[in-house]
Amino acid sequence: MPGTNLTRDEARTRADLLHVDAYEIELDLSSAREGGTFRSTTVVRFTATTPGAATFIDLVAPSVEEIVLNGVRLDNSAFADSRIALPDLAAENELRVVADCAYTNTGEGLHLFVDPVDGETYLYTQFEVPDARRVFASFEQPDLKAAFAFTVTAPAGWVVVSNSPTPEPEGEGDTRVWRFAPTGRISSYITALVAGPYVGVFDSYENGEQKVPLGIYCRPSLREFLDPEAIFEVTKQGFDYFQEKFDFPYPFAKYDQLFVPEFNAGAMENAGAVTLRDQYVFRSKVTDAAYEARAATILHELAHMWFGDLVTMEWWNDLWLNESFATYAEAVCQAEAPGSRWPNSWTTFANQMKTWAYRQDQLPSTHPIMAEINDLEDVQVNFDGITYAKGASVLKQLVAYVGQDAFFEGVRAYFKQHAWGNTRLGDLLGALEKASGRDLKSWSAAWLETAGINVLRPAVTLNTDGEIESFAVLQTAPALPAGAKGEAVLRPHRIAVGLYELNDGALVRTDRIELDVNGPRTEVPELVGRHRPAVILLNDDDLTYAKVRLDEDSLAVVTENLGGFTEALPRALCWASAWDMTRDGELAARDYLTLALSGLPRESDIGVVQSVQRQVKLALDVYADPDWREQGLARWAEAAEQALRDAEPGSDHQLAWARVLGSVARTDGQLDLLAGLLDGGTVIPGLAVDTELRWALLGRLAATGRADEAAIGAELARDNTAAGQEHAASCRASRPTAEAKAAAWASVVDSDELTNYVQAAVIGGFQQADQRELLAPYAEKYFAAVKDVWESRSHEISQQIITGLYPALLVEQGTLDATDAWLTAAEPAPALRRQIVEARAGVERALKAQAVDRAAGER
Ligand SMILES: [Zn+2]
Repeated sequence: MPGTNLTRDEARTRADLLHVDAYEIELDLSSAREGGTFRSTTVVRFTATTPGAATFIDLVAPSVEEIVLNGVRLDNSAFADSRIALPDLAAENELRVVADCAYTNTGEGLHLFVDPVDGETYLYTQFEVPDARRVFASFEQPDLKAAFAFTVTAPAGWVVVSNSPTPEPEGEGDTRVWRFAPTGRISSYITALVAGPYVGVFDSYENGEQKVPLGIYCRPSLREFLDPEAIFEVTKQGFDYFQEKFDFPYPFAKYDQLFVPEFNAGAMENAGAVTLRDQYVFRSKVTDAAYEARAATILHELAHMWFGDLVTMEWWNDLWLNESFATYAEAVCQAEAPGSRWPNSWTTFANQMKTWAYRQDQLPSTHPIMAEINDLEDVQVNFDGITYAKGASVLKQLVAYVGQDAFFEGVRAYFKQHAWGNTRLGDLLGALEKASGRDLKSWSAAWLETAGINVLRPAVTLNTDGEIESFAVLQTAPALPAGAKGEAVLRPHRIAVGLYELNDGALVRTDRIELDVNGPRTEVPELVGRHRPAVILLNDDDLTYAKVRLDEDSLAVVTENLGGFTEALPRALCWASAWDMTRDGELAARDYLTLALSGLPRESDIGVVQSVQRQVKLALDVYADPDWREQGLARWAEAAEQALRDAEPGSDHQLAWARVLGSVARTDGQLDLLAGLLDGGTVIPGLAVDTELRWALLGRLAATGRADEAAIGAELARDNTAAGQEHAASCRASRPTAEAKAAAWASVVDSDELTNYVQAAVIGGFQQADQRELLAPYAEKYFAAVKDVWESRSHEISQQIITGLYPALLVEQGTLDATDAWLTAAEPAPALRRQIVEARAGVERALKAQAVDRAAGER
């Protein structure tokens, strides 16, 4: 499908030729309740630098009705391969395209969802990367900005929201017409439309003369769970913080946040009409980590209103900059905004973003932050941990390098100079160089143009009195996987070294030294002659991007006393280091379990607790020696039950441990406890067995064969909502029978009926670590089907299947061999190859870790 896969060269040629003035787009959604297709009429006005030249406009649609260029009707055959060929342009052009476009159930284009609670239809658009063309004819590239004027016909009584403020609808009878004012000049991928009987809550952001209307929307069935005060609060904190730091008023007429169903990403920065996944409207109790994550997402999207929407990358190779900036901005705003509820956001950043980045940066597919993005397929698989998390980590490091004041001064100049325009990386770096007086070329070369992570290790020797005789920081080049792009380099790192003493079980920092690390060995003379502290922590305060190791003595102290750090950030750094060592086979899975069991009871940061809990489960499922694994799982399950019973009633920790037990319960007693909680026969004081927790408990009972179809059906009758249907589908797929596995497989692989969310739920239920024997036959089926899936499904759907159904739980040489055989025979497209190679790397890593764990068991 070359037509859908726009290349960078094509985009550049088209941008050189065209200047797009305005779109008028009419969408008739009056028969949305029937599904199928909708009428889309687009009028585009644009100029051409070379009259007589030809170009094309993008459209993904079942059929086109009419194409009129400059008053001349073109044959409908001009529409082929998802493009409309436009011959013989004039200097000034008007194009009219009438098409029938399709509603989707994949979360791409115009998504149609029917809420089982009220039977009503809810629509929303999702266009990034190239899906505006599924709704209207569009020059689908970010640097062809234009004004967009939407006119929408929809059922009377609906709410219709777009980038411009919602007008009073016109007309009578069953339908109404909404005529939206034209937007400012924006890119097609941030245009948006949300329509249906959504409900809204309103407020405004006021600052002196400025008044920005704020709206929050969701489906009526979620309204009772919506907490608009909390959402408005963090939104307003973000407005205050970003407007001041950016010295540029919010650029759009209003700011709506719409919680929409079956959303593939976390959220999307449509100009003035941000869409967010509606799991962020919490139906049941969640921990504070979930509120923190939601606030981070809200701030991330708000930051994009300036960085991304007002000033936009020219091409997708700078997607990383767009996402890194917003990710950095969300964290710095949470850390610094007055009244922020999450001033410890850098701990969360270390715990989550860094861990994500380190994982991604060690995959065979790793790449320099500045990736080559030759076409749309490249960018669609590049929404990864390098783009978001490593980029943000490196940006944080750049801020440490140039200083925060200079950083924001450069950013302010950048917004002023490029408002409503398009830029490249050099434009931002130029502004930062000017503001800071530093040359960023070597920084950029070291950090943006190379791949992989450096490892920093301490080298310490002591004299006979126990004083430090020498101390150095050793740096090693990234171990780049075979086939990875880029060169392995040492980099300049600005780091802090923290010195910690142990007093009555508390680890307290007694000193901190900041220094530049360059080359393979950097001496730290400041430490020579000092008494050796209990723990020496490299990269304290998490300034740089590097894997960090502890010296042997420090590791011994941390293993016993990780919970003893009085500050959250060093604890998070040590947790991350221990996890990283486990993944690298430097710490056996069973030793990681021991460390977690000793450290978790004293870990107060609930986000860190939940990360470690997930990591322990993963370590036991795939990194542990299979002969020992059951012992480890039994120990973990016992610990979870004990922690659940010991936790403060009603606390986040109590809920988190209940969920762990709900993922690992294995003895009859533990499963009886889950069943008792579910039927009310057992009560744990303070533990609310609410809708979501009920499904989690039932999920485990289903996967262990204790809950049958009737029990699942009964739970669905209690919660017959979209989320309930997804959970029920997951429970059915998790049942330990060959029939359940076959049905789940067929519904995903042999049929394309499932929506994106139900499909994800089925895949999640299908893959059960306790069911390897039942899953074994599906490895072969996977390789037989995967290429066809890639070719026949949409991007989101195929990615779910390819990564989700890979036989990742079958950690054995046979899985690697089967993968290699397929890679050789199938000659997959690069984006497909990348997904398979990444999945294979997980099995290869797990095999090595299992050998390490086995050896640890023999010592
Ligand atoms: Zn973003």
